[in-house]
Amino acid sequence: MRRYDVIIAGAGHAGSAVAGELRAAGFTGTILLVGDEPRLPYQRPPLSKGWLTASPDPEALELRPAAFYAQERIDLLLGSRAEKVEPAANLLRLADGTELTWRHLVLATGAGPRVPRLPGVGLDGVHVLRDMDDATLLKAALESGQRLVVIGGGWVGLEVAASARARGVRVTVLEARPRLLARTAGPTVAACLERHHLSRGVDIRTGAQAERLFAGPDGRVGAVRLADGSCLDCDAVLLAVGAVPRDALARAAGLVCRDGVLVDAQGATDAPGVYAVGDVTVRPLAGESFSGRLESIQSAHEQARRTAAAICGRPQRPLETPWFWSEQYELRIQIAGLPLEAGTSVLRGEPDGPGFAVFHLRGDRLRAVEAVSAPREFALGRKLIGEGARVLASALGDQTRPLREAVLGHG
Ligand SMILES: Cc1cc2nc3c(=O)[nH]c(=O)nc-3n(C[C@H](O)[C@H](O)[C@H](O)COP(=O)(O)OP(=O)(O)OC[C@H]3O[C@@H](n4cnc5c(N)ncnc54)[C@H](O)[C@@H]3O)c2cc1C
Repeated sequence: MRRYDVIIAGAGHAGSAVAGELRAAGFTGTILLVGDEPRLPYQRPPLSKGWLTASPDPEALELRPAAFYAQERIDLLLGSRAEKVEPAANLLRLADGTELTWRHLVLATGAGPRVPRLPGVGLDGVHVLRDMDDATLLKAALESGQRLVVIGGGWVGLEVAASARARGVRVTVLEARPRLLARTAGPTVAACLERHHLSRGVDIRTGAQAERLFAGPDGRVGAVRLADGSCLDCDAVLLAVGAVPRDALARAAGLVCRDGVLVDAQGATDAPGVYAVGDVTVRPLAGESFSGRLESIQSAHEQARRTAAAICGRPQRPLETPWFWSEQYELRIQIAGLPLEAGTSVLRGEPDGPGFAVFHLRGDRLRAVEAVSAPREFALGRKLIGEGARVLASALGDQTRPLREAVLGHG
């Protein structure tokens, strides 16, 4: 039975980053990266953005070239599924029956698309978007003049809507809640994005609950019926109602999971030597008293660095302010901190102007910033949140004054 010092199950952003960070930290032991997709680790964010509109070579999305893994002595087992973990025996079993043992195991299995329980979701022409295969199928469906219904007005749904419009597709977005991005962005940013989508011809329907999908004469999806009884004809449907953590391996191994694998700030689970990183985890959040599940590249990389440091016995840095970005049309949206957890909000700039930011405060502490095409406000806001800065709300909202003048002090 082959033994590795570190086995990483899941070869996405977080898993591949752990392998790279271990080597960067001087780890000399053996490393195995196991991934069930038959390709080198690649970037997911472009799959809903530029990759749908351009025709880049799939290899352009690779996070590192094959040579990197060889040079760094990171063994790759691709197209191979981790099927069972036995923490007490330090054992990992693969789907083909291979058994491997480890000194440290890192679970990096990510999240999968949430599929709503709607009659008709299994029809041809109904898409989800999580990986390269999903994106390839979706891209093929985005032919000019076709009609796409996107179920879910979150980040992935809106990014695909923008990409589909760029390809001349007619798009309707259905969001069950009263507004877009209700779980992740404040109302000012959501309203700004809604206006942009409407102005580009996207039919946005909030408070709209999809109830059933129907087949057309060719057997593929042809219509969506809403709870109010209305029906939308379509050629394709994208289910974009969020992601669920792929924590089945961890749950079956008896690890503590709460809608994701529960980890500490080092990525350690409750089983000795077993870590978890990325979208599959529920993790401590900087400056908050609660843990949460983040789905972002920044979180995946931060956790990878912290877990590599823990395995190497290196000191840890303070937790980073979480941040995230999205791109829709010509807009670049950047969010640092958790906007919906803060108290008061202050607008800087005009939501209809070339760029603006919304700063979120708890008392006089800056807790979050949402920036739309305002990279300087984002960068400074993110830095100030990390520094625990106290700020003067009136100065934050006054565009005639430099942002720095709003800072009252730190700590
Ligand atoms: C369409 C899309 C757009 C996005 N856009 C942005 C963005 O603009 N900004 C941003 O910050 N974030 C974005 N994200 C989120 C970001 O991609 C994720 O947060 C990040 O990929 C998480 O990394 P991960 O390694 O935890 O999961 P993943 O990258 O999903 O990797 C997990 C890997 O593990 C594999 N796996 C699962 N189970 C097993 C098993 N049992 N055995 C072996 N392998 C297994 C999976 O197939 C997958 O390859 C986007 C995500 C998607 C899907």
